[in-house]
Amino acid sequence: MSRNISRRSMIKGSVATVTLAAFGANFFDGPKHIVKASAVNPSTIPDETVYSMCRQCVLPACGIKLDVKDGVAVNIEGNPEAPSNNGALCSRGNATLASVYNPYRVKKPLKRTNPKKGIDEDPGWEEISWEEALGTIAEELKRVRADDPRKFVWNNGFARSGSMLEGMEFCEAFGTPNYVEVDGPTCSVHFGCSLLMGNFTGPSYDAGYTKYFIAVGEGSNATCGYAPNTQGFADAVANGMKVVCIDPKCNVEASKGEWIPIRPGTDLAFVLAMQHVIVHELKRFDVEFIKRRTNAPYLVGPDGHYVRDKDTDKPLVWDEIANAAKTFDDKTVADYALNGKFDVNGVECQPGFQIYVSSIVDYTPEWAEEKTTIKADTIRRIAREFVENAQIGSTITINGTVFPYRPVCFEVGRGAVTQFYGGNFHCSSIIVNMLVGALDVPGGGIGALGPNHKCTPVPLALKPDKDGIVAPKVEAVPREFEWPPNRLDAKTFFPYSHDNPHIVFDAILDPEKYYLDYTPEVMLVWGGNAVVRLYQPEKVLEAMQKLKFIFAISYSLDEPTQMADIVLPEAVGLERWSAATRPGMVNTPNGTMKAIFSMAAQQVIDRVYDSRQPDEIFVDLAERVGILYGKGGVNDLLNTGRFAPVPFTGAFQLDLNTKYTAKELANRVLKSARGGEVDIDKMRHEAKLPAQLLPEKANYPSLAWPVGTTRYALYLENLLFKGEDLKTNLERVKAQVPGWEMDNLMEHYQPVVRWMEKKRQIPSEYDMYAINWKTAQYSFGNGGSAENPWLDEVAQLDPHLHVICMNRSTGEERGFKDGDTVWVESFEGGSKFEGRLKLSEAFHHEVVGIAGLFGHTSKQMNPIARKGLHFNKVMANGPGDIDPIGGGFDGSHKVKVYKA
Ligand code: SF4
Repeated sequence: MSRNISRRSMIKGSVATVTLAAFGANFFDGPKHIVKASAVNPSTIPDETVYSMCRQCVLPACGIKLDVKDGVAVNIEGNPEAPSNNGALCSRGNATLASVYNPYRVKKPLKRTNPKKGIDEDPGWEEISWEEALGTIAEELKRVRADDPRKFVWNNGFARSGSMLEGMEFCEAFGTPNYVEVDGPTCSVHFGCSLLMGNFTGPSYDAGYTKYFIAVGEGSNATCGYAPNTQGFADAVANGMKVVCIDPKCNVEASKGEWIPIRPGTDLAFVLAMQHVIVHELKRFDVEFIKRRTNAPYLVGPDGHYVRDKDTDKPLVWDEIANAAKTFDDKTVADYALNGKFDVNGVECQPGFQIYVSSIVDYTPEWAEEKTTIKADTIRRIAREFVENAQIGSTITINGTVFPYRPVCFEVGRGAVTQFYGGNFHCSSIIVNMLVGALDVPGGGIGALGPNHKCTPVPLALKPDKDGIVAPKVEAVPREFEWPPNRLDAKTFFPYSHDNPHIVFDAILDPEKYYLDYTPEVMLVWGGNAVVRLYQPEKVLEAMQKLKFIFAISYSLDEPTQMADIVLPEAVGLERWSAATRPGMVNTPNGTMKAIFSMAAQQVIDRVYDSRQPDEIFVDLAERVGILYGKGGVNDLLNTGRFAPVPFTGAFQLDLNTKYTAKELANRVLKSARGGEVDIDKMRHEAKLPAQLLPEKANYPSLAWPVGTTRYALYLENLLFKGEDLKTNLERVKAQVPGWEMDNLMEHYQPVVRWMEKKRQIPSEYDMYAINWKTAQYSFGNGGSAENPWLDEVAQLDPHLHVICMNRSTGEERGFKDGDTVWVESFEGGSKFEGRLKLSEAFHHEVVGIAGLFGHTSKQMNPIARKGLHFNKVMANGPGDIDPIGGGFDGSHKVKVYKA
């Protein structure tokens, strides 16, 4: 903390800040507790000290320690015994108290009295009882379910994280396929690792062992300010890890190493050129790894598919020594051919590796320099340093176990993957690690984060499919072609996509465009702000106006909540029960995962307002609608473990005919994971968390699968298959993917990744690229971070927030100076905003940078939420503006900048 603000004095000062805000609020009165809180001297002995779990971001993995005095939480610190954060908290975690005691929170259930909906309309809120609110919502849900359950849309965001009911179980019991996550489209960083590494995340660098780290577009998560990841990054740098950051902005990672500015939207060209240098110029790659750990030796026929053994249907390889084709798993293969042309049963074929090598022959550093603006010599140097630092062939012994040792990692973050070719780029970024054998071994890119409901347990991550290749998981398990489509999110057309909320709102406006035979009528809004998070907010608002009934569970009266008919006040962090079992993470202070531990979020204080925890609301609504009990009900579905954070198992399975409280659910989550001896009440006053220590070997998936038992896909045959399948089905039903020409779409479904150009012609006056980035104070923040006065105070220390940033030389060439008011107008989005200009050396010379997502427009939020600019306003939202594989938005839009 700079400016001599100690954490403790910040807490004291901030309580006072909240108190003043309470008196200044013109819509709500502040809670009585606030006055008490300001009078409490935090140095006095608390009545109770509670150990709990931070709920201020999507991660919930940090342990916290709370002091409670006279029923008020007066102090928060990190729990030093929590293996994830070792006692540290990020700014969001430290600002928890200001979130809880925010006078702008929704305090009572509210009913709209003004039927006219719009962001500038006063809804005419009227306070009602919980009974009236839940009864009205249940009636609407029952009505729509009897008519057509698909007409109900569940719309939530990251702030739902850490809840025990996350909604998918409710939707399935209800009968709607329309579970929509609004935060996905700017976060399609899961496809490549799901396809190639069998896991939801990765590759992440290995903080304990990586020596050379290439971070592209916010790799490492230090920029995002996650407490565990930031500590891990700091430790790794202190231990000598070299950081090379490829990014249009000099971010946190770049400031600790070498920053190489890149033109936005050209990261794919950079990684392809790196591969060209490694394969065609240096000719230094991990040949043994490529032969024995990847599908590169599999023979491929003229149709692009594996050539298979006639009897077993297994893919064939060519044995160089025996000069014969053999099945991939034949133990007699003496050496695998990576090059050459062969004739197998009359089919001319070649190893997949040869096709891959040919595909990158033209991607020279000189070619990439034109695309990226990065000098060819620099690209060559980075590729050479990457290979040299990989120490191909070396091993390391950790606690008696010998591992391959490849201390380099090429990691990508949201900024690089949020491109129209994002899914392909993610695959290509993993392939560059593959070339030097740096996957799932010490020092390399790690894909498995251990057992929770989304990250595959280490032993299972690399489990092979029938062809001996890592089986695709999570996002990369393609959806079957469904016709006519049922889902609003168009996953029939985008079978791998992460989340498509932008399409959902487009489909509400125009169902026929997406071949839908129904129009949605009822929507839940919870834990995510579609108006702010998605591009082109007017379109989202227009779609919401079209719906017959919206109910919101909300922390404050933000933009989507303004459109609701009923608003239910949401209990937040310290007012809620929940539980989670987490692994330590690979890029955290401990360096390796080391332990799986369980955490409980305790209800630390009485609820400040008349709010309820969403889990309780959902259980109550499920009971009223008739979908809580019995076979196929919510309890039954929670028992399956398909939706809950941890499956309810054994004696802790839910009884199908019992209504559970949130606390009971949390306790059963803990007991299911840890056994009966762990109890949520016992954990309340214990710093030490129930944990299971893991052997070093369990941290690295490759060791769970010895050589010869599983292979990574370097040749992406399954992508080719899915593209062909999609094309065949679309032709059969005579449909086309909205917003896409078939040929353009199929460019993304190729077995080798190639450079792709945007097809849209853009007038030359739109000569700058608009970028934005996550900010450490707000990224992934749960409800209310934009309204938190403590975070606002910390954020003011960042000169790049709330302004329009431009490279200093570029700005001066155009006659701009610091503090000018300028307009930023986009071509694709067709929208514009004005703001104050900040000239800075920290940006690529073709870039206009706008931090985070600010500039809320709801008049009933804390006024500090209106500060800053809403970047997404100038982005485009059409189906052709997304990555058809990962589903993410394209984030490299052209804008023009001119003085106001
Ligand atoms: S990273 Fe920050 S907000 Fe997230 S759980 Fe940790 S302390 Fe809380």
